[in-house]
Amino acid sequence: MTTRERFVTPVTCPECALNGSATWEESERGDLETRIKSVSDGFTIDPSGTEIVCTDCGIKATVGKTLSRSEMK
Ligand SMILES: [Zn+2]
Repeated sequence: MTTRERFVTPVTCPECALNGSATWEESERGDLETRIKSVSDGFTIDPSGTEIVCTDCGIKATVGKTLSRSEMK
């Protein structure tokens, strides 16, 4: 049985100081790889799926420490 964990981290744009949050999810293979599941308004996920970008500035956002984590079954 596979249990996946979901993480929530704060994200901040270093240019315009916009704050938001991102939800990450472990990959189904359980190889410790995490994917960005969703981001809050004002941010977008880049095509590689591993970077969070400020929509207005078009630059990479800073990701903070994990706020919470939960298990999904
Ligand atoms: Zn910005």
